[in-house]
Amino acid sequence: MGVSVAKIDDTIWSSFEIQPAPNPASDKEREAKLVDPGFGRIFTDHMAIVRYNQAKGWHDARVESRASFPLDPALAVLHYAQEIFEGLKAYTRDDGGVNLFRPDANARRFHNSAERMAMAPLPEPVFIEAVEQLVRIDCNWIPSGEGSLYLRPFMIASEIFLGVKPSSEYIFAVIASPVGSYFKGGPAPVSIWVSENYTRAAVGGTGAVKCGGNYAASLRAQAEAMDHGCDQVVFLDAVERRYVEELGGMNIFFVFDDGSLLTPPLGTILPGITRDSVIALAKASGTHVREELYTLDQWRADAASGKLKEAFACGTAAVISPIGKVCSANGDFLIGDGTGGPVATGLRKQLVDIQYGRAADPHDWIRKVL
Ligand SMILES: *Cc1c(COP(=O)(O)O)cnc(C)c1O
Repeated sequence: MGVSVAKIDDTIWSSFEIQPAPNPASDKEREAKLVDPGFGRIFTDHMAIVRYNQAKGWHDARVESRASFPLDPALAVLHYAQEIFEGLKAYTRDDGGVNLFRPDANARRFHNSAERMAMAPLPEPVFIEAVEQLVRIDCNWIPSGEGSLYLRPFMIASEIFLGVKPSSEYIFAVIASPVGSYFKGGPAPVSIWVSENYTRAAVGGTGAVKCGGNYAASLRAQAEAMDHGCDQVVFLDAVERRYVEELGGMNIFFVFDDGSLLTPPLGTILPGITRDSVIALAKASGTHVREELYTLDQWRADAASGKLKEAFACGTAAVISPIGKVCSANGDFLIGDGTGGPVATGLRKQLVDIQYGRAADPHDWIRKVL
């Protein structure tokens, strides 16, 4: 007799079928690719994949050779963009073992993203197991030193149907990409452009979930930033166009002369795991952290008066990037002397040391995979 859907979902985590790639990269090929991997261009030999349909629930969990998906022109995701993703990293410890950083937080956020996008929520243990299995089988792709293995779990609507409704079928997969240190020789300060023509998210929209569509909508603003000679774009709120929200793919923090930190409150911004970790680290060391609205005008005034000492952006890919300069249609201003500061550098070191297992882990963030 058939097993209930719930039953399959609950037991699938222990039943990934592992099919090692018949033709993995040779040691020589792999080592050549790992010399200067850059970001997101090189991929490992395998992927993890789990399928969903209404009859079976989540099923057919496997780790197999990384390969293309068949791409029917009527695949739902191609038309209505039902797609969500995550980003996390695996780090090599000095003892040769491998750490994941807060994968449970990524699993929970992925679950929330699926609910907002009317997709089938993936049980959190399945998400974590898929990530761990992929890291184990492709562990020889993790760069040593300050590099890491960037993991990209994602889910697409895979029903072949043009009707506008939630898909009845989904593919969840995890792929992995070795990445070098994001910044060679320490983080260089970034310049950011204030987007006054475009917004990223409104109350009730999808700003707080990690869906591909948010990025599609941010690219024009990012291109405008680059046209103005800036590295990144920062968005203001969609209603009053006054409050600083976040960058295209990173959260933002401000550091004041009394040592306190301020970061915009959750709501329309993406609840970054790096943001949450920075708040926890700062609070644990006695720093006052406020999650409060902050206007562009106040930012400009505080930078001019010297009340604002630093600003930085944070996210999994780049960890913490100091913001050196802010450019807008109403003129540019520097943060401090434009070279970054000790608070961003110190928080970055604290976080990276925990991730690589070089420091104690009082918040229980590390999951040892190997
Ligand atoms: C992923 C993401 C972040 C950073 O989240 P982390 O969990 O810290 O990597 C910030 N903003 C947006 C829009 C994002 O998509």
